[in-house]
Order: sequence, then structure tokens, then C-alpha cells
Amino acid sequence: MPATPASSAAASAAPKARKPGRPRKAAAADGAAVVPAKAVAKNPAQQALAKLGLIRDIDLALHLPLRYEDETRIVALRNARDDEVAQIEATVISSEIQMRPRRQLVVQVEDANGDQCELRFFSFYPSHQKTLSVGATLRIRGEIKGGFWGRQMVHPAFRQAGGELPQSLTPVYPTTAGLPQPYLRRAVISGLQRADLSETLPPGVELPYARYLGENGRSQAYSLRDALQFLHHPTPDVSIAALEDHSHPAWQRLKAEELLAQQLSQLTAKRERDRLRAPALQAPRMEGGHLNLHEQFLTALPFSLTGAQRRVCEEIARDLARHVPMHRLLQGDVGSGKTIVAALSAVIAIDAGWQCALMAPTEILAEQHFAKLVGWLEPLLAPRGLKVAWLAGAQKKKERAAMLALVESGEAALVVGTHAVIQEQVQFKKLGLAVIDEQHRFGVAQRLALRQKLLSTGMEPHMLMMSATPIPRTLAMSYYADLDVSTIDELPPGRTPVVTKLISDSRRDEVVARIADQIAQGRQVYWVCPLIEESEALDLSNATATHTDLSEALPGVMVGLLHSRMPTAEKKAVMELFTAGVMGVLVSTTVIEVGVDVPNASLMVIEHAERFGLSQLHQLRGRVGRGAAASACVLLYAVGDSGKLGETAKERLKAMAETSDGFEIARRDLEIRGPGEFLGAKQSGAPLLRFADLEADKHLLEWARELAPEMLDRWPELAITHVSRWLGGKAEYLKA
Ligand code: ADP
Ligand code: MG
Repeated sequence: MPATPASSAAASAAPKARKPGRPRKAAAADGAAVVPAKAVAKNPAQQALAKLGLIRDIDLALHLPLRYEDETRIVALRNARDDEVAQIEATVISSEIQMRPRRQLVVQVEDANGDQCELRFFSFYPSHQKTLSVGATLRIRGEIKGGFWGRQMVHPAFRQAGGELPQSLTPVYPTTAGLPQPYLRRAVISGLQRADLSETLPPGVELPYARYLGENGRSQAYSLRDALQFLHHPTPDVSIAALEDHSHPAWQRLKAEELLAQQLSQLTAKRERDRLRAPALQAPRMEGGHLNLHEQFLTALPFSLTGAQRRVCEEIARDLARHVPMHRLLQGDVGSGKTIVAALSAVIAIDAGWQCALMAPTEILAEQHFAKLVGWLEPLLAPRGLKVAWLAGAQKKKERAAMLALVESGEAALVVGTHAVIQEQVQFKKLGLAVIDEQHRFGVAQRLALRQKLLSTGMEPHMLMMSATPIPRTLAMSYYADLDVSTIDELPPGRTPVVTKLISDSRRDEVVARIADQIAQGRQVYWVCPLIEESEALDLSNATATHTDLSEALPGVMVGLLHSRMPTAEKKAVMELFTAGVMGVLVSTTVIEVGVDVPNASLMVIEHAERFGLSQLHQLRGRVGRGAAASACVLLYAVGDSGKLGETAKERLKAMAETSDGFEIARRDLEIRGPGEFLGAKQSGAPLLRFADLEADKHLLEWARELAPEMLDRWPELAITHVSRWLGGKAEYLKA
């Protein structure tokens, strides 16, 4: 194997120090070695490679071009089209430095047909000037611009003319600062030569992707090796569009592989968890007409469950009764009634003699849960000497100590709170079930901490995660392949749909009149103030100003203010006034985003709606329309200095006005933002798919999902090779 500078750079665990910035010339000792990141010599280009995750040969081989440049042809200037990149050969006929409008090197060239073109360079070195001196014949590549004064290329690439033309398109790779394309190209080529690309798909597997006409004239599917060879060095006759939009059969092969790796690793994690033991939680069967807790609770409920609630409750009860830890996501639109499902699950655990923890992301939300659960459960628990405990950050020492004692003794059958629930001092006696509300608001690290924490009995607790941001099916199949999903797809009866209106901020007065109208009818109103991410202080001053304005504009109406910086007691007092119906209008920052439940509120105004994300808007809107009254949501938008709304803001607001279905909203949000942002890096914790697109490649995802279990059962070694090839060291992280 020829030793290229790049090959050594890519693979070396070079023991010797060497000059920074310059790749080593000697051949790499062992090309195939997997190099731990720390051992890589700290040459800046190598550091840059490592930064891109390009450590092993296979990583380099799987680093695929973003686009291509066609350097396989020389065109005559007269055949080159304006605004397209062209490669020409021409001779310099003049070269001068002009000082106006700024210092620049202007070079006139002429090709064999006598056609001319001007080259302009705004930054250049003496060496460039030398190469570009009069009489030199050059190969020049750049975008041609037509113009009044003739054709032009700005900052084209150039070198001495002559030499062989490449046979394949030139790849342009995603890169980072300090990693020039030519260096990266060489690194990729040598990585590709050395990497183990043996087949990992099981023999006889049907491949879901398009075939191509092989050299023997027979249609065939790409092997990984051929696909990579092709994508790194495609022949010039291929459709660049098919390469760049990833629809080419070679791309399909890679995307299928990527999705398979992801499915395999998720499934492995799931199977590993399935080997763990959890307590089997089952409400006892009662004799002689007595009811168990679960039955008592259902009987006491003032309403009956919706069909969807009943169905998900059964799914959960079935999981809880098994010795395998449940790992279930309960999703349902805002207002679909997830809390009651959580309560019913808790009751099963309690009835079986275990404790249940319920954790919510904000204190307000946790408190609402607490109030509700105490109301529902305490009458049932008290006769058995059991309690509901409360744990939050802002809690008096004494109260906290008392609560901790209840948790430790097991007297607290149910523990409700914020992150405080998973803090170190908290010791459960017998935790059987943990419920996490609005799970997407907790990071992966916190979820992991929870699992560790809860292992007090030597058994894993069951876990129920709840989310009001429904995850579209494709996403659930992919990122949550190791989660079981229950969906509440039905709202409790008696809800009236929320009418959503987009209104320009210039018509604020009309909105205030509408508020007065609602108050006159005995209704209540939320006014949510903008989210200014850069500055909490600005958020606050905004909310305060709006609060003052509304107080003045609505004499005789109690207008309250709620924001995250208020002391807990004050927040609580404000919420109580609003919940009790005494306060007519509640001005707030986004602290009310999740879970707040005041059925009498019939109007929600969201100021600067253009600044909010789609899911967030939907969550906010879900605070109204909870009772029987006709409800509305007003999205006040302000156009910026440009005089109009940005494209994505417009799309979001339009989606909000058009649909109130959380699943549809989630789908559009995914479309607007892409899966990475939709999930948020924090929440997904998993490296996002590099190549596959969940929507466009659904068929590949289905294929991978079907193949993964069979492959783990029948070809476990191939599965391991496949996953480590694609995910390398990242596979561990995926399990979180
Ligand atoms: P979310 O799914 O957004 O958490 P909640 O659990 O807060 O929704 O429920 C919203 C409201 O609907 C609550 O006031 C709750 O008491 C009520 N609710 C839940 N289930 C039913 C039902 N089956 N029939 C009537 N009202 C219900
Ligand atoms: Mg809720």
C-alpha cells in the first residue's frame, strides 16, 4: 500500500512527536488499528478529524461527500454557461493589481478559441501572482458570471494547465476549521482502502433498495464496499441530483445500513432491559364484595374514563403485572387526561404494597399534580395509614426532613415533586413505579439518574413517561424503538374545539375588548408574554409592562402576574387566585406552559407568537378549551424591522390556525424543524441519523425494523459487527 501523508494521519497512534501542522510521511504501522481518541497525536488536522468523529478507518470510509465537483472535463469558454461552475484552460494575457474600489488582483485570460474571461482575487499572495503571470497557461475552475464588461470569475481555483483529468467526480466532504478538503480527501481514500467492509447483512436477506445495472449487464444491489467506492468516486455520467438528494441506489444501501444499525442497538438495549427484574405489581382480588384500591378509585371518580384512557390503562396494567421493568411512553394531546391514567397506575403499585414516585419538570405543575392526587387518593389511603408526600427544591428544612422520613419508612405510598424526588438524600423503601410527566423536559442524564436512584430494592422500578408532544410514528419507530408507546387518541367528551385566530399586534385594542367581553361572561383569560431567549430580564420587563397595561385597560378586573423568578409562595398564591376564579386575567411568562388546568379559562392570548416554537404554542393553547365553554386562542404577532414574518414563523402560525390535532402539529413541527431539533439534542441524547431521512426513507426503516430482531436471534455476530461499524463507541450512549 502506498504511504500517503493522509493515510498515516488517519490511522496513526503515532508515538513520536512531530511538527504540528504537517502530516507524517512514514507509512502507518498498522492501518487497521482502532485508535482511541486520546492516543491520536495532536496535529491540528488530526484533531480536526477527531472532532468530526473520524477516528477509525471505517469512520473515514463512512464520511460521505456533501456534493461533488465535476473536474473531469475542460470546457471552451463559449460553451460555458453563466452562473455555472466551469473548468477551463486559458492563457494569462494581462495581470495587474488594482487599488479601487479595493486592492485586488485582476487577471485577463484567453482560451484556445480566443474567448476571454477576467479573474478577480481580493486576497492573494506573491506566489499566486507568480503563477498568474502573463504567458502562463492555467487550468481554472470557478463560477462564471456574465456582465456588462465581459465574463468574470471571482476567486477561481487555478493551477498549471495540463496533466491528466480525473476520471470521477471530485467529492466535497463536510469538514471543519483546520481541515482542508485535499487533506480530508486523502484521509478518506486511505480509510476506505483499509477499512473492513466485509458484508454484515445476513445471507439471503432481501434488500429493500433499488438495484443497478452491473458490469455484467445484470441488475444487482450494491454491496457496502461498492456503494462506498461509488459514492466517494462516482463516474461523471451519473445524475448528480440523485447523488445529492440521496436517492441513488448506492445511497439507499448506506441508509438501509445506518437504519439497521440504529434498530439493532435500540433492540439490544431493550433486550438487555428485559433481562432485568422488576416487582410484578397487581391489585389484589378482593373477596366478599370488598373493593381493592383501584376499584374504589374508579368508583369515586366523578366521570367515566374515555375508551382511549381505558385502553392505555389496560396496557399499563399488563406491563406492571410482569417481572420485566416497564419502559412505556404514554402520549396524548394536551387535555387528553393523562394524569388520571398516572393516578390509576400509581394505585395499582400501591395496592400491591409498593411505592410510586411522580416527577414533573416545574414546581407549579408538580404542585397541581400533588393537589389533584391528594384530592383523589388521600381519602382512600388514609384508612390504610398511607400518605402522599411532597418534595420540591423550595421547601423548608423541617418539612423536607419530615417528608424524607415518610418516604424512607414507606408510609408515603406516593411521592410527588420536582427533580427533588431524585436527589441523593431521598431513600425509598420499596419503589415499584416511577412516573415522569412531560418527560421531554428532562434530559437523558436525569433519566439515567432516576434509574440508578430507584434501584433501592435490588429490583428495577417500572417506568411510565408521559408526553403531550406526540411523537410521529416514524420517529417513535426509530428513536424510541426501545420504548413501548401507549397513545390516548381521544379527548374527554364535552370539549369544544379552540378557535385560533392570527391577529397583528397593531390590533391589540380589539383583543383587549375581547378580554373584557369574556370576563363579563364570567370567564377567565390567560395572556402569555413572549419568550426572549437571550434575556430573562427582558421577558420579565415585558410581562410587567403588559400587566400594567391590562390592569389599566380593564378596571375592576383582577389582573395577576406570574413569572419564574417569583418566590414560590407568591406563585402559589397567584395560581390559587386564578384557579379559584377570583382572578380574571393571568399575565404570565411561559411558566404556565405545561399542565396547568383551569377549565373556566376560555381565552388565551399569546403575545409575539412568532417567537414561539410550534409544539410550545400547541401546549399553551391546550390550557384553554378544557371546559364546556367555547374557547379561543389569539396569536398576536408582530412583524419585525423587515416588515414581514419570517418563513418558518409564518408556517408555524399557519399550522396553528389550521389544526388543533396534536399529532398533526407534531408532524408539521417535524417537517419544519427536522428530527434533530424536534427532539432536541438534549432529549434524544442519541446521535441523529446522518444519512437516512425518516420520512423519505420509511420503507428502509420498516425493513430495518423487521430485520433487526431476526438478525439478533440468528446472526448475533454479524449484528455486533454491524453495530460497531456504524456506531462505534457511540452505541453505549444510545442505551440511555
Ligand atoms: P393532560 O393529558 O394534558 O395531562 P389532564 O390529565 O390534565 O390532561 O386532564 C385534563 C382535564 O380533563 C382535567 O381537568 C381532568 O380532570 C379531565 N378529565 C380527564 N379524563 C376525563 C374524562 N374521562 N372525562 C372527563 N374529564 C376528564
Ligand atoms: Mg398533564
